[in-house]
Amino acid sequence: MFEKIVQYQNLDIKKSKLLREIDSLKEKQEVDNYAKLIKDNQNKLAQIDNDAKTCIEQYHKCEIEFEKLKKEIEKIKNSDLSLEQKNKWASQEHIMDKQLSNIERILSTQVENVNNIIKQFELCKNNIVTFKNKYLQSKENYANVKQSYVPKVEEINKEMENLEKEVNQILLAKYKQLKQDKIFPVFVAVNNSSCGGCSMEFSSAHMTKLKQVGYLECEHCRRINYLNN
Ligand SMILES: [Zn+2]
Repeated sequence: MFEKIVQYQNLDIKKSKLLREIDSLKEKQEVDNYAKLIKDNQNKLAQIDNDAKTCIEQYHKCEIEFEKLKKEIEKIKNSDLSLEQKNKWASQEHIMDKQLSNIERILSTQVENVNNIIKQFELCKNNIVTFKNKYLQSKENYANVKQSYVPKVEEINKEMENLEKEVNQILLAKYKQLKQDKIFPVFVAVNNSSCGGCSMEFSSAHMTKLKQVGYLECEHCRRINYLNN
């Protein structure tokens, strides 16, 4: 009763192994690797864009500060100040000097930042172009290698299709249901009086029932245990 469904399951295991092999091909890893590098550089570009915005904001702040100072100086130049007021202003001159040199310092930092931003932008842009070409190339390589697996997988599919007509349909339905629930392999031979899947020991009542029906689902791992005879 179980010979055919186990044969069917073995083909399925063989197919899963092939699919896993396809998925872990070094060509596939290359595709994933370049896709990641492209994404990393795109994220970096977004960061560079933010940095550029911050630079522009800083520049505008300096511009406003500078305009304020300029107006203040003009006001002083154009007004008739008493000697006392002139002295007072002169005593505060160093404050303006400090403010001006502060603006100058911030501006020179921003010039440096802008140069860095341009360099990084160019680098990122070039990286994206390079990695995109490599990505396309590796994708083509992967498709070619993958193609070589197609006949093997198709052969297994055909064998399984043929077997489906011969296996017990109730067992097949159970198989498909449990496999969908990620229980795999589904059918295991009972090991003495323990589950062939998770090794849990069955009660004598469970074993009696198993012997009567010929197979029984493990309450622990849900695999179907069958008598190996
Ligand atoms: Zn089990």
